[in-house]
Amino acid sequence: MNTHPNHLGYRTGEPVRDTKAPSGPVAGRWDARRFEAKLVNPANRRKYTVLVVGTGLAGGSAGATLAEQGYRVVQFCYQDSPRRAHSIAAQGGINAAKNYRNDGDSVHRLFYDTVKGGDFRARESNVHRLAQISVEIIDQCVAQGVPFAREYGGLLDTRSFGGVQVSRTFYARGQTGQQLLLGAYQALSRQMSAGNVEMHPRTEMLDLIVIDGRARGIVVRDLVTGDVDTYFGDAVVLATGGYGNVFHLSTNAKNSNATAVWRAHRRGAYFANPCFTQIHPTCIPRSGEHQSKLTLMSESLRNDGRIWVPKARGDDRPPAQIPHEERDYYLERAYPAFGNLVPRDIASRAAKNVCDEGRGVGPGGQGVYLDFADAIARMGREAVEEKYGNLFEMYGRITAEDPYTTPMRIYPAIHYTMGGLWVDYDLQTTVPGLFAIGEANFSDHGANRLGASALMQGLADGYFVLPATLGDYLARHSHEDVPENHPAVGEAVDSVNSRLQSLLSVGGDRSPESFHKELGELLWDECGMARTDTGLRKALERIPSLREEFWRRVSVPGTGEQLNQSLEKANRVSDHLELAELMCLDALHRTESCGGHFREESRTPQGEARRDDEEFSYAAAWEHTGTGAPPVLHKEDLVFQYVHPTQRSYA
Ligand SMILES: Cc1cc2nc3c(=O)[nH]c(=O)nc-3n(C[C@H](O)[C@H](O)[C@H](O)COP(=O)(O)OP(=O)(O)OC[C@H]3O[C@@H](n4cnc5c(N)ncnc54)[C@H](O)[C@@H]3O)c2cc1C
Repeated sequence: MNTHPNHLGYRTGEPVRDTKAPSGPVAGRWDARRFEAKLVNPANRRKYTVLVVGTGLAGGSAGATLAEQGYRVVQFCYQDSPRRAHSIAAQGGINAAKNYRNDGDSVHRLFYDTVKGGDFRARESNVHRLAQISVEIIDQCVAQGVPFAREYGGLLDTRSFGGVQVSRTFYARGQTGQQLLLGAYQALSRQMSAGNVEMHPRTEMLDLIVIDGRARGIVVRDLVTGDVDTYFGDAVVLATGGYGNVFHLSTNAKNSNATAVWRAHRRGAYFANPCFTQIHPTCIPRSGEHQSKLTLMSESLRNDGRIWVPKARGDDRPPAQIPHEERDYYLERAYPAFGNLVPRDIASRAAKNVCDEGRGVGPGGQGVYLDFADAIARMGREAVEEKYGNLFEMYGRITAEDPYTTPMRIYPAIHYTMGGLWVDYDLQTTVPGLFAIGEANFSDHGANRLGASALMQGLADGYFVLPATLGDYLARHSHEDVPENHPAVGEAVDSVNSRLQSLLSVGGDRSPESFHKELGELLWDECGMARTDTGLRKALERIPSLREEFWRRVSVPGTGEQLNQSLEKANRVSDHLELAELMCLDALHRTESCGGHFREESRTPQGEARRDDEEFSYAAAWEHTGTGAPPVLHKEDLVFQYVHPTQRSYA
């Protein structure tokens, strides 16, 4: 390892390797791994306790399946019910290579689209496994009774999402996440009733307990009583979702946060590609200074809605008065093969560009139209209502405009995080015994996630991958109780208590929310849709001083021995203030543009994103060395044997 930090402020360590992915033909790797994995005898499974943090689609499906297999599961979430996890918000659908439409889809095509869509920054082995498992997920969910939309003949219906030319997205109106989560929750409830899952809602994990190099427990706080407690197990699974809320304004649920993954990172789990965040092109534009949340309009709307802005700058006529020939359907013009269904990164940048040119619509010119007039004329209002009714209703309620008669206004917003804890093919982090699944890990989407593939990944991880790989880890470590008086336990509990106490005792004059907002605005400006060397350096200068100010001026009323949402918020913001710095450093070091990471300095002569495969064909796995201390970068080289990196083209 280079012992001195380089000019950007980090050190370079040994490369990191995924030692679990088998070699051989990609289509056989998952079978090979499952066959090589050691098994735990069914009668022995009840001796093992697995702690699962999170009850969204990833955690819910994992908890239910592991309990069904016979393990003892102890599970946690901070909501009042496991079925209120953020996954419930997912609208548009879930991909699967079923090829029910006979439109040329296949496992290989889903694999190809996902590697290409991720701009060649994901592992082939993982993505191929994901495509294979996608077909099993639909069968699993249908068997559970998930009410996917069906077409007239009774077959499951599908629609298209960005970055693909087939129709492979299964959906349940605009409530796909909710219906899938109810399916997982039913399975979980059954295990809770059977006594195989011990559920702890309104309980927040605040630290990881590592004993002799292995994850053996967690420290949690009961959000109602304030009690700080410990739980022990043979393995810990983090299914704690993404960190998009570091930006303050995002489409994520207000409570989504990075605390679990960040605290695990502080205990030794590498954090991969933190700067790979996804901006979603179809969100309702921000309406004012005091807004605390953004709302997504599902990508499925791009199946039938047409995106346009006026051709002339500053044209502020109402949309109905702008004649067809004076409109610029800029996606259809620039990308005729994919039209309005280009991938999210491309659609987002194009929207930003037309707004930067002064052709944006709505207040402040920060919006583009998503227009259903043609679809209504073609299909009739009733058919549009049937397909998208609840989304239209939501838009109408939020904006007080009628999207059936006036085009929707949309603008890009932070939506998803492709970065997360580094995991190997088994979904194990660099801390043995600590696994990360769903949006919490970095595994399958590279630099840009294609629509409808997060639900696919979360459920693949929870229902299929983890239940097959976790047993291998457990079988290799005999079951033994954790010595509860181990110094590592005391140290973790003390560190949680002292952090909470510090937050309560600052007694400052600024709310946690105000720090969060300032940090979010800084990140959106400098590490958002477009990034520059100068801007990222500016952010890297400001974040440590904002952090210092936070610990000097934050105001947290109340005590720790009660329900105290200010304390919860301040604790989460304190982690955001550390994670944000790593995100900016990761963005600064990656001087290429790829996927959702658009470096202004790295463009083709046509102004499109320019990747640099020579220098950056790797996942960046960062090791923590202390707050504010230079982190260590471990590179995992990416090898492409099947989908060869090319300049992405959707024209
Ligand atoms: C508005 C919206 C619409 C979307 N639509 C789609 C779509 O149509 N298709 C698609 O594929 N993807 C979609 N996505 C993305 C997708 O919903 C998410 O990526 C996915 O649901 C994440 O699931 P998860 O199980 O990993 O995490 P989550 O659902 O976020 O669950 C996290 C769980 O972890 C718990 N948790 C977190 N931290 C702690 C802690 N410290 N202690 C205890 N518990 C903790 C929470 O309580 C929760 O139970 C959408 C996202 C948004 C925001």
